Amino acid sequence: MFPKIVRLNCFNDFKMLKRSLRNRPDFTKNRYKIPRGNYNYLHDDHIKYFRNLLGDERLIMDLSDLERYNVDWYKQVRGCSTVVLKPKTTDEISKILSFCNKENLAICTQGGNTGVVGGCVPVFDEIVISTELLNEIISFDENSGILTSQSGCILQNLDNFLAEKNFMVPLDLGAKGTCQIGGNVSTNAGGMRLLRYGNMHGNVLGLEAVLANGEIIDCLSTLKKDNTGYHLKHLFIGSEGTLGVITKVSIQCPTRPKFRNVALLGLQNYDKVLKTYRLVKHSLAEILSAIEVMDAGFMEFVKDKNNKKLPIDDYPFYLMLETTGSNESHDQEKLNKLFEEVIQKGLVLNGTVASDAKKVEEIWSIRDTISDGIKECKAVLLYDISLPLVHYYRIIEDIREYLGNKCLTVFGYGHIGDGNLHITIQLDNYDNQLKEDVENYVLERTLAYEGSVSAEHGLGFMKAHYLDKIKAKNTLNLMKNIKEMMDPKGILNPYKVIQKQH
Ligand SMILES: Cc1cc2nc3c(=O)[nH]c(=O)nc-3n(C[C@H](O)[C@H](O)[C@H](O)COP(=O)(O)OP(=O)(O)OC[C@H]3O[C@@H](n4cnc5c(N)ncnc54)[C@H](O)[C@@H]3O)c2cc1C
Repeated sequence: MFPKIVRLNCFNDFKMLKRSLRNRPDFTKNRYKIPRGNYNYLHDDHIKYFRNLLGDERLIMDLSDLERYNVDWYKQVRGCSTVVLKPKTTDEISKILSFCNKENLAICTQGGNTGVVGGCVPVFDEIVISTELLNEIISFDENSGILTSQSGCILQNLDNFLAEKNFMVPLDLGAKGTCQIGGNVSTNAGGMRLLRYGNMHGNVLGLEAVLANGEIIDCLSTLKKDNTGYHLKHLFIGSEGTLGVITKVSIQCPTRPKFRNVALLGLQNYDKVLKTYRLVKHSLAEILSAIEVMDAGFMEFVKDKNNKKLPIDDYPFYLMLETTGSNESHDQEKLNKLFEEVIQKGLVLNGTVASDAKKVEEIWSIRDTISDGIKECKAVLLYDISLPLVHYYRIIEDIREYLGNKCLTVFGYGHIGDGNLHITIQLDNYDNQLKEDVENYVLERTLAYEGSVSAEHGLGFMKAHYLDKIKAKNTLNLMKNIKEMMDPKGILNPYKVIQKQH
């Protein structure tokens, strides 16, 4: 039997945060040695303005309270902001931005602070605008399944709200107890169900955002069909807080399936993983809602760091697949047929399946709690890439060969249905030169295999320097022109995505 599941929630996050502060990272400005932009420094008149607007309780300036806004989830980056603002309305955000723009003060928008590329915390002393109090659900239309909310609503809370109405959010990620819908839209988050429901570009029907100069852009459509000119919402989706602050979002939500099965399969090699994946897709078709791959290194890590017992163990590869549907016997019949076929074809060595809600959660928790273990590592390098499936696992083998005994472990796992691979490299100690060498190697290999160096996490601060290596010159210029037009002073999330020469 599995130990009790610990899902991510605010209480656990807080406990982990406390632990993490004990060995917090160096300041980003020292570790990365980049120059501060030519922005103003905060002075008393600025604080006076913010205090008048928000009141004392929505202005954080106490050093110990500031820490959790300055350090990211995996303790990889650390800013030194001296003020966090907690607006509740679009109007307040508009006033803050208009003021900051006029005063040439840089800002960093922060949602749930679960981003893993250093986009959500300041690099220097940028003012943090936390969206955590923009947490109102505005409307839900039970005919169309369209939900409109403020951007600071926690994804899990939205899903709980929808569950009562037999609907669900169209995305699911391990951080759902903490991340916010605005953060999800700003990062174009992927997650486990992208395979079935698509990404945020497909699910966001409309949004409201505030530009750098405080102007409010209302693209908050709740229509599924509306071909009237340029769809500006797409500019904000995935722009990681560099083009505006998203304040409201409307998304389409699918109906909640009644029945769920989750299976964990053990396999011999990657070739069999790929063959099984193809079979799974064709056999389960419309009821397949997620498929994840994990290698033996992942499972060893989870067992070791998270103290997890596995229902099946000691296989080189694992596939975790989920079906969701409205007819229990139909779904189970399909699954049984699939299992017969994969065993008979010698593709799968062993497997277990669960349909009881508690067991389903237990199996999912093997995948979901990986981040707890990663957080405990002294030095770790993380990559989130996507690759054509024929090359998918070769890169892990390449990295192992490249690093030899310079690292403790290299393992891979990810949303195989989207070609998305997460690579974890555990080191003895944090070593700047080794980090740079590995980064260049991963970039070179990923491009050689015609993949992307950021599948779903974005570029943030840590991957922004990739941009001129991966985009065609004219594409990059167009991106820079758009940024320049929407945020001429570059006050929105500087040093992220597009790095300006300051
Ligand atoms: C355990 C764990 C599992 C994860 N799993 C996945 C996964 O499966 N798939 C995936 O895609 N990601 C995953 N992530 C990464 C992360 O959860 C997502 O990127 C998420 O969408 C970030 O949301 P957030 O509210 O925490 O945003 P933050 O981390 O606070 O911010 C992320 C970026 O968005 C910007 N931003 C935030 N809110 C706004 C806003 N309202 N307006 C403008 N800009 C804004 C920030 O400036 C920053 O650049 C995972 C992270 C963890 C820790």
